[in-house]
This record gives sequence, C-alpha cells and structure tokens, in this order.
Amino acid sequence: MKILIYPDEILRNEAQSVENIDGRLQSLIDEMLKTMYASRGVGLAANQIGELRQLVVMDVTPTKEGPHPIVLINPHITEFEGEKVEDEGCLSVPNYFAPVKRAAKIEVVGYDRNEKEIRLEAEGLLARCIQHELDHLKGICFVDRLNPVRKMLFRKKWAKICPKENSR
Ligand code: ZN
Repeated sequence: MKILIYPDEILRNEAQSVENIDGRLQSLIDEMLKTMYASRGVGLAANQIGELRQLVVMDVTPTKEGPHPIVLINPHITEFEGEKVEDEGCLSVPNYFAPVKRAAKIEVVGYDRNEKEIRLEAEGLLARCIQHELDHLKGICFVDRLNPVRKMLFRKKWAKICPKENSR
C-alpha cells in the first residue's frame, strides 16, 4: 500500500462517512495498520492511501510494549482543553518535523472495527496524534498549520527534498 506524499491533491479532499463496517473495510484497516507499522508511523488516515473514508489507525505505544492499535471510524472530537506546542511529523511529509500548536487534552468519539462506540479521553502524544489524523480526514495536513514564517521555510526545504512532487 502506497502512502501519498504531500502535496498530492487527494490529501486535500475531505473524507466521507463510513456507512458499513464490512469485509472490505476490515481488510482496508488491516492493510493500513500493516503500512503504518512498516513505515514506523504512529498514525495513518485513510486519505493518505487514497481512500476518502473517515477512518484512522494509530498506535502510540513504544514498539517493545506494543502493538496496541487504535482504530477510529467516523471520529469526532467533542472536547478540547488547553494548548501545547510540540514537534510533529507525517508519513506524507517524510523527514520533516516542525512544531504545531494543538489542544493538550481532548475527548473523541467514534466507532471501532467491531461497530462498538468508543469514547476516548486523550492527552500527550495520543491527543496530538488524534488531532493530526482527524485533520487529514478534513483535507488538512500539519504543514498547513505552521506559522507563516515556518510555512515559507518548509516550502523552500520541501522543494529540495521532494522536487518532483513539488513541481506539480
Ligand atoms: Zn499525517
């Protein structure tokens, strides 16, 4: 499964709600988890592999303690609390990290792969990861959230790292 690289147009699209958690979705979830672990990422949104569905997979546990995959379908953040600025990266923007301001604590609701409703309170890396992945479902990449100065620096840097993608 190939991960789309910024600024691929598909990453700009909004994902549609999942209506059926069927066999096809189950295999998509398995493929996404496999791709995420193989790329050593902590999260992957369906948009990043070209599937515009409201589905994200995550695992923020250290490798030696894992795996503890989290699957969220049709997720929705119901509470934001506090603020925190920390470095973020993205499998669609390889080898680039920059600070992004996010809520420090959140509550998210959604469904797991067994159609069970999940309500999760998260802080730290998990809270950041959820906000990052849910942004993807809205067509937003973390580099869109950089301050204007960093955004300019990113464009210059990205043109060198990823010249072919950037010239489209
Ligand atoms: Zn990402």
